[in-house]
Amino acid sequence: MTTSEMIKQRGLALGADAVGIGNIERWKGAPLQMDPRQIMPECKSMIGMVFRVMRGSLRGVEEGTFFSNYSSMGYGGITYLFMPMVVMNLCRMIEDDGYEAVPMGHQSDWRGIDNEGAVRPGYSVPVAPGRAAPDVMLHLRIGAYLCGLGEIGYSKMFLSPQFGPRCRVGLILTDLELEPDPIYSGPPLCNRCKACTVHCPGQAISREKTVKVELEGKTIEWGELDCKACDIAFRGGKVVDEPDKKGFYTEAMYGKKITASQYSPFVKKPSNLYNTGQAVCGGRGCVRACMVSMEKRKVLGNKFKKEFRRDPLWTVDWSQPENSRVAAAGEHISQVSLSNTSAGNLVKVAAEGEKNGALPRIKEAD
Ligand code: SF4
Ligand code: SF4
Repeated sequence: MTTSEMIKQRGLALGADAVGIGNIERWKGAPLQMDPRQIMPECKSMIGMVFRVMRGSLRGVEEGTFFSNYSSMGYGGITYLFMPMVVMNLCRMIEDDGYEAVPMGHQSDWRGIDNEGAVRPGYSVPVAPGRAAPDVMLHLRIGAYLCGLGEIGYSKMFLSPQFGPRCRVGLILTDLELEPDPIYSGPPLCNRCKACTVHCPGQAISREKTVKVELEGKTIEWGELDCKACDIAFRGGKVVDEPDKKGFYTEAMYGKKITASQYSPFVKKPSNLYNTGQAVCGGRGCVRACMVSMEKRKVLGNKFKKEFRRDPLWTVDWSQPENSRVAAAGEHISQVSLSNTSAGNLVKVAAEGEKNGALPRIKEAD
C-alpha cells in the first residue's frame, strides 16, 4: 500500500523540491469552477509539489541583459516540460497500486474562467446540470497552501519557506487515502512589507484594497490584483495615454494602444517561449522585490553566498535620441502575437466583453 512517506520520497527523487499532502475536505466551499471534486468526484487526497525557479534564471533580467531565461527556464520550461514529467511519473506509482491519479500542471489555456473566476463568455457549457463548464481550473497556489507547503503572500503569490516566491506548483488528485500534512504554521514568510506593490511595473497589486478567503479555518488576505494592469505590464508594455502618440509594442490590448514601458528594453514584445513565456517584467515586484525582502530578513531556507541585488534597479529612457532612433527603426517590423490563445481571438472577445461590461482578463503567467 502506497503511503504518504513513499509518495514524498518518490516525488523528491523524481525532481520536485518539496512535496506536501492535503485531504479533499480542505476544499470544502470551493467555487464550482475551481472544485477538484468536479474533476474527480471520488478524490480523497491532493498531492502538492513545489518546483523552484532558479535564482539564476532571474539574474539576466536583474542585469537588464538576458530576459529569455526567466520566461523559458524560469517558468515555461518548468511548467511545460520538467513539472509534467515529475507529476506524471509520480502518478504512475499511484496507478500501479490500483488507484486513479490525475496529473495537473498548468492547463490554464483551456480553463472556463478568467483570472477573477468569472465564466469566459461564449466559451463552453456544462455537460449536465450541477456540473462546471469545462475546463475546471484548480487554483494551484491555494492547492499548495492546502497541502501544507507554505503561505500565500500579500502579492497573492505562493511563498515557500525554502524559495519564497520562486516557485511553480504541480498537483495530483487521487482516490488514494493518504495521511495529510498540517497547514504551514512555521515562521511567517510574508511580513506585509509591500515591496511587491511598490516595485510592480503595472502598479497591479493594490496597497489598500484586499481580498479575503477562508481556507481550512484561516483567513487568508492578499492585495487586490488588477489583472488587466498586470497583463499589460508583465509583458513590458504600458498604455499610450496621449491620443496622437503611436503604440506598437503589442497589438491593442483592452482597446488601448500599447507602447514599451521603461521596464522593457525591447521595441516590440518578444515572441513567447514554451507556449506562454513572455514575462519581460521578470516578476519585478511579485517575485524579485519579494525575494530580496525575504532574503534580507533571512527567512528562506535556500541561502546564497551573495545578495541578489547588487546594483540599483535599471529603467529605460525611450525619449533618449538613440533609443528613439532604434524604436523608429523597429516600428514596421511585424508584431508577434500576445499568446497562443489570445492574438485576435481574445482581443475580439475582450471587445465583445467590454460591450457587455464583462471584460475577460486572461493572463497565462499564473
Ligand atoms: S513583497 Fe513583502 S508584502 Fe509582498 S508578498 Fe513579499 S513579503 Fe509579502
Ligand atoms: S508579474 Fe510583473 S506586472 Fe504582474 S504583478 Fe508581478 S511584478 Fe506586477
